[in-house]
Amino acid sequence: MNRYWSSVVHTLTPYVPGEQPKRTDLIKLNTNENPYPPSPRALQAMAAEAAESLRLYPDPNAGRLKQAIADFHGVTASQVFVGNGSDEVLAHGFQALLKHERPLLFPDISYSFYPVYCGLYGIDFTPVPLREDFTIDPADYRIANGGIIFPNPNAPTGRLLSIEAIREILDGNPDSVVVVDEAYIDFGGASAIPLVNHYPNLLVIQTLSKSRSLAGLRVGFAVGDAGLIEALERVKNSFNSYPLDRFALSGAVAALQDRDYFAATCQWVIATREHLAVRLAELGFEVLPSAANFVFVRHPGHDAGELASRLRERAIIVRHFRQPRIEQFLRITVGTDEQSDKLCAALTEILG
Ligand SMILES: *Cc1c(COP(=O)(O)O)cnc(C)c1O
Repeated sequence: MNRYWSSVVHTLTPYVPGEQPKRTDLIKLNTNENPYPPSPRALQAMAAEAAESLRLYPDPNAGRLKQAIADFHGVTASQVFVGNGSDEVLAHGFQALLKHERPLLFPDISYSFYPVYCGLYGIDFTPVPLREDFTIDPADYRIANGGIIFPNPNAPTGRLLSIEAIREILDGNPDSVVVVDEAYIDFGGASAIPLVNHYPNLLVIQTLSKSRSLAGLRVGFAVGDAGLIEALERVKNSFNSYPLDRFALSGAVAALQDRDYFAATCQWVIATREHLAVRLAELGFEVLPSAANFVFVRHPGHDAGELASRLRERAIIVRHFRQPRIEQFLRITVGTDEQSDKLCAALTEILG
């Protein structure tokens, strides 16, 4: 409490990101970072930006990056919006497109930043319970609403929703904006981006943080009808003209152009995930089917919080959410095969 604060500040409950420890000897499986380095071409492009031109502002419209995203996804640059991480793109989406009279809908188990944005922008929301198996039922989204948002695959469950199910939600809600947050789509799902030409109310958001190993660069983007993109641009240009710096713009373009490296690293993560899922099941864990770069697991005989602290003692950190319905689950990021081996060895010891 502080008498100098604006009144809204007193009401905020900020998002708490996963721990970024100072120790570098930890096996860090808690924030879904990619275990592989960024594309060498991206690193090269960024190194070249450390030059005299840094005295100049970057392109406020991010024209080259928008075109690179448009080329990759087969849309036009007017259908692309870019921001400082997809968290910023999401924030602008909440303010520009999801704040209406009726409540916003999102799954009860979902990205925990969504209720935080609702608090910041004064958006009323209704959580929609996932099915018992943690899947989204499109029929649950037929109620009156001022907008819909969900991650696909969902976080932190990893469960994937089919394109047919997404179409069902879109068809049932022609008067609402439907935002699909595809932070993990490159690890095994089909993107909804091809639908944007058919649904003027669909906004798809992606990030370079996970599948392109660039969490430290902070680049996210949205693809949708030009009308939706214009709303995002209006908010962005009322907030920060230059959210992406010269390093981010160059590095992101090069990363998007390096398609072979991208495809290879995604395949490595997927292969490691499938192997890890089998081994965790052998250790007695229930493993939800995952289309992401993490697995969501629980052990019938061991408390999740306890397992997380025992792993930490062994220098391995995973994510545990103290939240109804999932307090007995652990979310474990898929690392390298070597990290998987160490994780499984530690769990074998802990489980006795
Ligand atoms: C990681 C994540 C984001 C944010 O990604 P940034 O681009 O790094 O801000 C958004 N949505 C979900 C569901 C995520 O897991």
